[in-house]
Amino acid sequence: MNSIYLDYSSTTPVDKAVAGAMQVAWSEDYGNPSSVHRFGQKAKVRMNQAREKMASLLGCDGSELYFTSGGTEADNLALKGVAYASQKKGRHIITSQTEHHAVLHSAEYLAQSGFDVTFLPVDELGKVDPQQFKAALRPDTTLVSIMMVNNETGTIQPIREMAEICRSAGVLFHTDAVQAVGKIPINISDLGVDLLSFSGHKIYGPKGIGGLFIRKGVRIAPLFHGGSHEKRKRAGTENIAAIIGMATALEMVTSRMDEENSRLAQLSDWFINEIQAKIKDVSLNGSMASGIPQIVNLSFKGAEGESIILSLDLKGVAVSSGSACTSGSLEASHVLSAMKVDDLLAQGSIRFSLGQFTTKADLEYTASILPDIIDRLRSMSAAYNG
Ligand SMILES: *Cc1c(COP(=O)(O)O)cnc(C)c1O
Repeated sequence: MNSIYLDYSSTTPVDKAVAGAMQVAWSEDYGNPSSVHRFGQKAKVRMNQAREKMASLLGCDGSELYFTSGGTEADNLALKGVAYASQKKGRHIITSQTEHHAVLHSAEYLAQSGFDVTFLPVDELGKVDPQQFKAALRPDTTLVSIMMVNNETGTIQPIREMAEICRSAGVLFHTDAVQAVGKIPINISDLGVDLLSFSGHKIYGPKGIGGLFIRKGVRIAPLFHGGSHEKRKRAGTENIAAIIGMATALEMVTSRMDEENSRLAQLSDWFINEIQAKIKDVSLNGSMASGIPQIVNLSFKGAEGESIILSLDLKGVAVSSGSACTSGSLEASHVLSAMKVDDLLAQGSIRFSLGQFTTKADLEYTASILPDIIDRLRSMSAAYNG
């Protein structure tokens, strides 16, 4: 039985070096960093070394990195934290329609709590138009949150341009960079963003750890109340081993980024061409020119996404779809809907996400079994045949 993992954007395996570093941390640096004694102080030193390492790789100051339980918490902290801390200035927030649910649902929650939220549309490639974005800014806007790389399509947003517009308007800018870290070069001081979210398990680190860059001087209300950890912005004893693991992971993905990107660009180009040569009515969502080579999102018209996933899984290939099946009725992905992808295409969308262990042979096998699967599913589709 084949066992092919093409779902790296959902999560990645923990790198061996990361697991090794975490093992050491668990057995040797088990002190509580808030403790005054030597065990605590040693753990604190190790944690802050990891923080400094991450800061130098991301282009910011160590004092501006705050550890959280993952990307979801970092996004919640950014949106709610800034919204509540700045509400005397205004209660208007801007985001886009294609954000990850961690941002989208935080924004919807704020909208229900008396904030005014603008959800910006995107073009057919999934990009926010900087001019449209500029026009949405108001005197009472306090925060803009636009993701750097979309998790379903891989589309890269013009973050630096939008951050600059915000800076001159005196509005804070947050970006969810969970899918960007380790895949596109990031230098925070160069980007000019005020807040940036990241996560460990999307970069071959452990699950349950992530963080938020908060530019010095940016006011933020904490989500959790408790001890004075993370300079009172995130109470709770720090997950030292996971922090060390995430820093090790960031170092590894950064060092192999260029090589991996060119290898994966060749693989994904080959894969798209092969699939389109073998199967008709297949379209690419987004474009490889405006996206990352790790994500290939294809729509198989008339074949339902959930069924494709199950059929591929039976043959040992793991992929994802953007659409969620709710009680028999298919709800198309919010990302593809915002990109105005036709419903019949959106329902047949599959995200193939490539990573460190993806080989040409994996993709050859996947491309060899897909035509039969799609044929069989299409033969059962009234919408496709009618
Ligand atoms: C995975 C992901 C998140 C959530 O991160 P977790 O660490 O799983 O909570 C947020 N945003 C994007 C774009 C993601 O891909």
